Amino acid sequence: MTVHCDVITVGGGLGGASIAKVLAEKGLSVLVTEREETFKDRIRGEFLAPWGVGEAQKLGLYELLMEKCAHEQPFINFGGTLRDYRATTPHQLPALTFFHAAMQEIVLDAPRHAGAEVRRGVNVKQVYPGQPPSVSVESRGVTHDLTARIVIRADGRSSMGRSWGGFEVHRGKQRMLGAGVMFEGLSMSNDTIFVTLSPGVQRMAFMLPQGGGPGTRLAARLATTTIPLTLCSAMHVTALFADIKGSTELMEELDPEEARSIIDPALKLMIDAAHRYDGYVVQSTGDGIFALFGAPVAREDHPQRALYAALRRLQEDLKRYSDRIRQEGRLPPVASGP
Ligand SMILES: Cc1cc2nc3c(=O)[nH]c(=O)nc-3n(C[C@H](O)[C@H](O)[C@H](O)COP(=O)(O)OP(=O)(O)OC[C@H]3O[C@@H](n4cnc5c(N)ncnc54)[C@H](O)[C@@H]3O)c2cc1C
Repeated sequence: MTVHCDVITVGGGLGGASIAKVLAEKGLSVLVTEREETFKDRIRGEFLAPWGVGEAQKLGLYELLMEKCAHEQPFINFGGTLRDYRATTPHQLPALTFFHAAMQEIVLDAPRHAGAEVRRGVNVKQVYPGQPPSVSVESRGVTHDLTARIVIRADGRSSMGRSWGGFEVHRGKQRMLGAGVMFEGLSMSNDTIFVTLSPGVQRMAFMLPQGGGPGTRLAARLATTTIPLTLCSAMHVTALFADIKGSTELMEELDPEEARSIIDPALKLMIDAAHRYDGYVVQSTGDGIFALFGAPVAREDHPQRALYAALRRLQEDLKRYSDRIRQEGRLPPVASGP
């Protein structure tokens, strides 16, 4: 079978366009297939956090964004607490704001400049895994198949890619509902994002200035959420990040099921350790956890609780666990710890 190109991306959103740009710059032949002929405002994504700005720099997109559509926001006023991102993030960078649809056009233009082919108004109907994988695309009522060495599914949050790949798809509960509106010509500061919280009614409002003259353009978003809003208000908490050292090597050395059978019980030990001291596990990262102490229920002794969880339970339990599976000969020589 003829292979049309090295890489096809399904979707030319942020993920698809960024990876296509980087791969095209490395000399690969890349085809981007994007359903939308022009991007529309979906009241989303007007804000790029400093850590995202750091990624944009690494991807070579930062200068482009700054030149064409982005506005620097060094400050955020979060529920009455003013924070300077440049002084309080490891990246020492401001956040950026932009009109999302304009930003998407600019980001999708980048792979084209790097030599990739970008097809718009093209709807991917199906991806067939195989050697080589193929993609069935429909454009103006005509369907045809294309093949590539690699197909990257970057078709966003309603991705069909997972089902096409044979993965079981589970959807979590909807936890947030949002709406937004754009204002023009306001007289307000253009270097501060405002976030207002109303925990009583579980609502948040975001005000994201976007420069523009003669007055400031402002994207305002309102969200209703089931996420405990006390997490967001100005309360003092201790965050605990823990992961398994050497899990990447473990995944590489063992077959995926075997690696999971070692990692999952370790993950459970971490979660139990956090719960034991009333920690709130915000996220499980696959080989670790991110837990908060002192939220959503405030606790004055949150630093002690986090330390007890880390030192008394997590480290001790994990050491016992890794000693045991090492004795059973199931663990290649990698370390584990928080
Ligand atoms: C309401 C809302 C607000 C958000 N606000 C922010 C924010 O302020 N800051 C932030 O950093 N993140 C925000 N996000 C998250 C951010 O938008 C996503 O993380 C990001 O867009 C994900 O990039 P992606 O490339 O995976 O998907 P997308 O950017 O959604 O791109 C997927 C692309 O695939 C295309 N596509 C889908 N199916 C097909 C198909 N069958 N054939 C061809 N093309 C297809 C779509 O048209 C789309 O262009 C927000 C998300 C939502 C829903």
